[in-house]
Amino acid sequence: MKIKLLGKTPAELKAVVTSLGLPAFTAKQIADWMYSKRVHSIDEMTNISKAGREKLSEKYEVGAVAPAGMALSSDGTKKYLFPVSCVRKSGLNAYENAQPEDFEDAAIEAVMIPDADRKTLCVSSQSGCRMGCKFCMTGRQGFHGHLSAADILAQFISIDESQELTNAVFMGMGEPLDNWENVSRAIEVLTADWGFGWSPKRITLSSIGVLPNLRKYLEESRCHLAISLHDPFPDERASMMPVQKAYPLDEVIAMIRQYDFTGQRRVSFEYTMFAGFNDTKRHEDGLIRLLRGMECRVNLIRFHQIPDFPYKTSSDSIMESFRDRLSAHGITCTIRSSRGEDILAACGMLAGQHKENQ
Ligand code: SF4
Repeated sequence: MKIKLLGKTPAELKAVVTSLGLPAFTAKQIADWMYSKRVHSIDEMTNISKAGREKLSEKYEVGAVAPAGMALSSDGTKKYLFPVSCVRKSGLNAYENAQPEDFEDAAIEAVMIPDADRKTLCVSSQSGCRMGCKFCMTGRQGFHGHLSAADILAQFISIDESQELTNAVFMGMGEPLDNWENVSRAIEVLTADWGFGWSPKRITLSSIGVLPNLRKYLEESRCHLAISLHDPFPDERASMMPVQKAYPLDEVIAMIRQYDFTGQRRVSFEYTMFAGFNDTKRHEDGLIRLLRGMECRVNLIRFHQIPDFPYKTSSDSIMESFRDRLSAHGITCTIRSSRGEDILAACGMLAGQHKENQ
């Protein structure tokens, strides 16, 4: 199996090229071809000598992945399905150190969402997920492995809209803070001058709040944060999100309150609405108490129905009155528009369907 170059820093690329006897400046050329021009193969790096490209190709590849499927929504949202060979070990070099028997074949999704002058990519960070949220198709599929930084970045360079992408949200399959080393490397590549050169304001990471790595994210990055809240009451939240027991919501909120979100950096809270479960006045009051005085936004999300789940989405009128009550108490609150419903754009739906069809 060849080693992927995607995700490597200029210093790491320099170590690669010098070990092959190629000039050190080749590292900069490779970074430019991968991260700026977003080519898919070493052979396309035409300012590197043919002999140099051949030497590189013996052991290395860029790491672009041809999508195994694509679904186009009537609203322009596009969902891509990618095959991955993933490992369960975490860490930045888990792939390079893995044995052939460590790999498991799986699938991941990436969703491109066009909106006025933006094209946002919703990326996956793991295949499956270990967090087991009851309302989530990905959670139901169990865990197949952490994506490498290369596999995360491959989602950006392997799609038709690669050069038109403007924003990224880590809201696809998996819990990004459960794969922090690889996600943080991918963010480094996206925001570095030698990488994609994006402002951190163009990136949002969504998490259920894995506390130790949430601290690292808040300290080490300047990107936006979205927290999957879904219920302000511990017991109810735990019944939907087992992670509540390990990382209680009040500790997550207490940590976030230690950081400044009054400037360019934003924190938002995701709240999927389940009729009769978390959409009552009691829940409005709970949220108002929990978020009092915070500079934040609450996004109310319509629930995409999944099989064998007892709750349906709340009605539009309930969502609107929920939004109005929070807004009246000074909490910026919006109802997230539903995108790509006709192509099962909710997290994990297409990969789950793919697995069932195999
Ligand atoms: Fe994992 Fe997110 Fe699904 Fe929960 S909602 S199981 S954290 S992917």
